[in-house]
Amino acid sequence: MRTDLAVIGAGPAGLAAALAAASRGVHVALLDAAPAPGGQFYRQPAAALGAGRPQALHHQWRTWARLRAGLDAGGVQVLTEHHVWCAERTSDGFVVHALLGPEQEQPAEVHATVLLLATGGYETVLPFPGWTLPGVVTAGGAQAMLKGGLVVPGRTAVVAGTGPLLLPVAAGLAAAGVSVAAVVESTALRHVMRYGTSLAGKLPEAAGYATRLLRHRVPFLARHTVVRARGDDRLTGVTVAALDAHGRVRPGTERQLPCDTLAVSHGMLPHTDLAETLGCRLDGLTVAVDEQQRTDVPGVWAAGETTGIGGAPLSLTEGHLAGRSIAAHLKGTAFAPAPAALRARRRLRTSADALRAAFAPPAHWTEQVTDDTVVCRCEEVTAGEVRAARHLGAGDTRTVKLLTRAGMGWCQGRMCAPGVAGLTGCPLTPSRRPFARPVPLGVLAAQHNERNPASSEEGPS
Ligand SMILES: Cc1cc2nc3c(=O)[nH]c(=O)nc-3n(C[C@H](O)[C@H](O)[C@H](O)COP(=O)(O)OP(=O)(O)OC[C@H]3O[C@@H](n4cnc5c(N)ncnc54)[C@H](O)[C@@H]3O)c2cc1C
Repeated sequence: MRTDLAVIGAGPAGLAAALAAASRGVHVALLDAAPAPGGQFYRQPAAALGAGRPQALHHQWRTWARLRAGLDAGGVQVLTEHHVWCAERTSDGFVVHALLGPEQEQPAEVHATVLLLATGGYETVLPFPGWTLPGVVTAGGAQAMLKGGLVVPGRTAVVAGTGPLLLPVAAGLAAAGVSVAAVVESTALRHVMRYGTSLAGKLPEAAGYATRLLRHRVPFLARHTVVRARGDDRLTGVTVAALDAHGRVRPGTERQLPCDTLAVSHGMLPHTDLAETLGCRLDGLTVAVDEQQRTDVPGVWAAGETTGIGGAPLSLTEGHLAGRSIAAHLKGTAFAPAPAALRARRRLRTSADALRAAFAPPAHWTEQVTDDTVVCRCEEVTAGEVRAARHLGAGDTRTVKLLTRAGMGWCQGRMCAPGVAGLTGCPLTPSRRPFARPVPLGVLAAQHNERNPASSEEGPS
């Protein structure tokens, strides 16, 4: 198919951009790997479950209802279950390559004059002894089970790690009937309060979660960490301990919390694969954009958490501005954003910077990682092997990968890269993956033959 604008990612950023551009006469195709639009924040229950009150699992439902109504009004072609593995420049714009459905084997292409990347971010989990036991899930994973599958991951949960995601996950699990044994947050509340002014806008939301947790009598252990997940063939409990002011475990403070679920999260990282393949400049680990959300590649815009982790309201604002900028570009008019939107973006970015500074994993988390702890789950590489690579002279995560295979498996380092970087002291750098998703060889071969008919007549090479 051919369209003016292809938006990749139907979360808050992609939805806001698609609607802003479509309402200004732009033909939009909105692609997402998920079975329904909404992204992480507005993740919808599977249609077959027939959820009677999906809003019970969400907040800011009115905003979602407004976005949904915008999509229902037409003007945006919604292409769900489109797993985009690559986008490339053509003589007259761009082609987006996707794989369809849950099987991800059948290819599809969308040709577009311009592109918006709104692919969001993904969770980081750092390794610790026992983290590969069944029963240990990411905090966002536990929430996705609840929101998308209407199921809970277990009966008794500990929610641990660091960052603002822990509160909604714990509150959601408690409201769904899970006994939450504790929220274990490694950051000291006193440290978070230092950023009070910049975080003032987040306080009502945090207070709402805190009230819900109090109502369910959920203990909140600040400046504590999980040092070990315990169990033989599945999780039966965790060992938690207090941290000192330097982020080291305080000896003698260990205690046991029985549980069948550990929901853990240490922050988030942006998805940048598609931008990297297109040659967009990155600013550290995020896609660099200008005031109009344009990347430095002409015809490519980016908005939402691919440009920096910042929360749904910031994604909505950036998406809206990107949609307006794209419409102005395609229609040959001036970009004239509402000053309030520009002010909101500035304020929300300041607050996102403060959140990032306020919450970080404990400085000495690697001291808890025993040599036999598996770090790369896909290739089963242990912390001992990763540390040995450092001693052999590896100075970057790519060399560690070549020496140990850590990051060479199915997830291509998305899970283990922060752990490998922390254990070796190497900087965490963009991974430069040519494809955003695994692609069957048959799909690549068929594409090659289509582009080179002469070679296909000669047979496979
Ligand atoms: C697991 C998880 C749970 C979260 N829970 C909360 C919460 O409880 N409360 C809160 O305030 N914030 C939460 N957040 C943060 C919040 O969801 C984000 O701030 C917000 O959704 C960001 O919006 P976005 O549009 O930038 O990206 P997202 O909402 O992440 O949307 C990106 C979309 O892009 C799609 N996508 C990515 N790559 C591809 C590809 N290659 N092909 C096709 N589609 C692709 C994804 O399927 C997704 O739908 C959570 C984030 C995560 C990752």
